[in-house]
Amino acid sequence: MPAPHDAVGRRTYELDRAHVFHSWSAQKRLDPMVVTRAAGSYLWDADENRYLDFSGQLIFTNVGHQHPKVVSAIQEQAATLCTIAPAHANDKRALAAKLITDRTPVGLDMVFFTNGGADAVEHAVRMARLHTGRRKILTQFRGYHGGTHLTVNMSGDHRRWPNDDGVAGVVRFWGPFLYRSVFHATSEEEECARALEHLEDLIRFEGPDAFAALVLESVAGTAGVMPPPPGYLRGVREICDRYGIVYIADEVMVGFGRTGSWFGFDQHDVVPDLITFAKGVNSGYVPLGGVVVSKEIATTFADRPYPGGLTYSGHPLACAAAVATIEAMTAERMVENAARVGAELLGPGLVRLAEAHPSIGDIRGLGAFWALDLVTDRETKEPLAPYGGTSAPIADTLAAAKAHGLLVFNNYHRIHLAPPLNVSDAEIEEALAALDKALLGADSAYTGAVS
Ligand code: PLP
Repeated sequence: MPAPHDAVGRRTYELDRAHVFHSWSAQKRLDPMVVTRAAGSYLWDADENRYLDFSGQLIFTNVGHQHPKVVSAIQEQAATLCTIAPAHANDKRALAAKLITDRTPVGLDMVFFTNGGADAVEHAVRMARLHTGRRKILTQFRGYHGGTHLTVNMSGDHRRWPNDDGVAGVVRFWGPFLYRSVFHATSEEEECARALEHLEDLIRFEGPDAFAALVLESVAGTAGVMPPPPGYLRGVREICDRYGIVYIADEVMVGFGRTGSWFGFDQHDVVPDLITFAKGVNSGYVPLGGVVVSKEIATTFADRPYPGGLTYSGHPLACAAAVATIEAMTAERMVENAARVGAELLGPGLVRLAEAHPSIGDIRGLGAFWALDLVTDRETKEPLAPYGGTSAPIADTLAAAKAHGLLVFNNYHRIHLAPPLNVSDAEIEEALAALDKALLGADSAYTGAVS
């Protein structure tokens, strides 16, 4: 993409390229879009091009951009008390913790605030290790838990490889994923049963008393939006109970309404021991994350100090944004809207697209959280880009979506769609129309039979 024509935009671009070291990137190869403003489901670049933002940025703009109630709450808090150390009590921090725990299962009533998702997961693991006196951690290959040393080692994706020194005490397992089943299963029931059997075997052979925690995304997100089959999370809960393992639900990506319920695990009738959250809790307006702690684990630290903390734990600006976000989500019935658009518009709309576009190998998702698994052959399921990489056809597809005014989230051969939870029906139709045109790029690389 060329640098912006607008002089201010061009200056921003030049300063960025000269001085900003970006995440996860080869710095010289970057070509970032300069974003100047945003509202609701849209954002604008420095040349005043408007885009419908179905990327969710990094899947966090749950109430959309610049929600007026959240913006005012931050402004009011800034005018009243910008900051205060974690040792003091603060009204917005206390209220945010109450609003969060009003939405978690009974018995999960306390919140330890962090600055984001990775540190939430780090602290949840630390709590589990201290609570159980054990070291090892179980995580899925197809999962992501953050970019810090421990959490990147807990992650299954290829970004771990250059950071992996093999000493984090992490043992990885395969979760259920029927479309690319490692268990050679042919139904969701079979996939679920075999995945649970594999997990329990692994625990038995690694040492049944070895594990402090099992950390699981309630719907694996970055790895490909893979809702677990019915019964899987309940099976995991039972296995954790059998071996005295703390069940940590990583809700950083799906918590706060993304899947059409407040938490992803809500749809599976399970109660975790610890819940990690970030992103959607305040729509990412100010960095915030945290761990919701069960009574049992909180009791471990009733008289014994918890050996962990952060300078900005429960920052008032972030907590004021969380209070306003949760209140707006509730008052405007955004979680219900996410469930409805997923079931009635986005899901069926993507199925219709698959009828016209052979490159769509699989469609997965729920609520405001969907993935298209793009392939060059539906029979072999050959991905449109390799694991850990990209390809000309996927790059062309993304460029075409952007040229048609649509931003999506991309990972390897997949397109993820994560609109705000308050997305309108018309915006969904607009996104589907843009995708319909963009997918012609992916179709042009299709070599399989067309049914
Ligand atoms: N856990 C999950 C499930 C995530 O998706 C992410 C980020 O995408 C993280 C943890 C890490 O969060 P953060 O980037 O805020 O540290």
